[in-house]
Amino acid sequence: MITIDGSHGEGGGQIIRTSLALSLITGKPFRIYNVRARREKPGLQRQHLTAVRAAAAVGGAQVEGAGLGATAFTFHPGAVTPGDYAFPIGTAGSATLVLQTILPPLMIAPAPSTLVFEGGTHNVHAPPYEFIVKTFLPLVNRMGARVTTELVRYGFYPPGGGRFHARVEPAGTLRPLDLLTRGEIRARRARALVVKLPPAIGERELAVVSEQLGWGARAGDELRVETSQNASSPGNVLTLEIESEHLTEVFTGVGERGVRAETVAERAAGEARAYLDTGAPVGEHLADQLLIPFALAGGGSYATGQPSLHTTTNIEVIKMFLDVRITAKRTGGCVWKIEIFG
Ligand code: ATP
Repeated sequence: MITIDGSHGEGGGQIIRTSLALSLITGKPFRIYNVRARREKPGLQRQHLTAVRAAAAVGGAQVEGAGLGATAFTFHPGAVTPGDYAFPIGTAGSATLVLQTILPPLMIAPAPSTLVFEGGTHNVHAPPYEFIVKTFLPLVNRMGARVTTELVRYGFYPPGGGRFHARVEPAGTLRPLDLLTRGEIRARRARALVVKLPPAIGERELAVVSEQLGWGARAGDELRVETSQNASSPGNVLTLEIESEHLTEVFTGVGERGVRAETVAERAAGEARAYLDTGAPVGEHLADQLLIPFALAGGGSYATGQPSLHTTTNIEVIKMFLDVRITAKRTGGCVWKIEIFG
């Protein structure tokens, strides 16, 4: 039985998701205590509880002690059974993070799966749907899996109510990948989505993007406001997409009540600028999310900026389950090379 201190490092939900995914893959049971101890509201929230239940359903696991607000639980994995599953969170908790919990075991399972996720599709502090579709999944698919998704409805805080489907056609084994250079930048796209809100919000955001990043002036650049009614509540998402030869990175600002559109856009533009300035292909969020697929592939490497606490914590948790060596070395300026050895 592996024992995990959930207050370690980042001390948030990622420690739970990584433990669930790797427990299913390795068959190793674990007990976690101090669950999300470094968060304002510690313990399991709806999103994390849904992830625990999703992992238990997919992996025939026995779970003791997991309930809303629980600060410790035990997870005994069974056999991973691909198939048709639905995971409703019931709040605006991030549905993409539930996908990320069960995707690793399902993408190396013996048969395909069809999955339905309900909850938040665009949350602060979680991967927005477009990041999953344009950044994360294309890389996983390049490693040999075939994962496709379809967005049915947007889900925003506070009610949630979003929905997307995913179809997972597994890879026999994942192929290692090296992502050490970005290659030429081919396109820059900014999309300001406004759902049940005035389009002027999106126009103000795009004005900041064009002023701060200079986007819109070059061939291949695209700035557009998109309006939609397809959600149960109003929402606003600014998506900045940088398509390079070797990958596409997505930076996002999620509109919040009481936060000016200009502030939402400045934050997203700041992240995009930091990414462009480092010159490394892999952005901060992708860097912590690539670790599991790369560890499962038993090798690979990528260049990124200074590793975040999410990245260093994830490395520690992965090493508790898998016999891999992961190194993070500064290679010059603010660029780091993360290397995985099986
Ligand atoms: P907690 O409430 O405990 O913070 P959590 O489950 O929401 O729980 P974290 O442990 O903080 O989350 O993990 C958040 C994950 O979402 C990380 O993998 C992080 O890289 C990712 N993430 C956050 N913001 C973005 C973003 N803008 N784009 C892509 N990924 C993101």
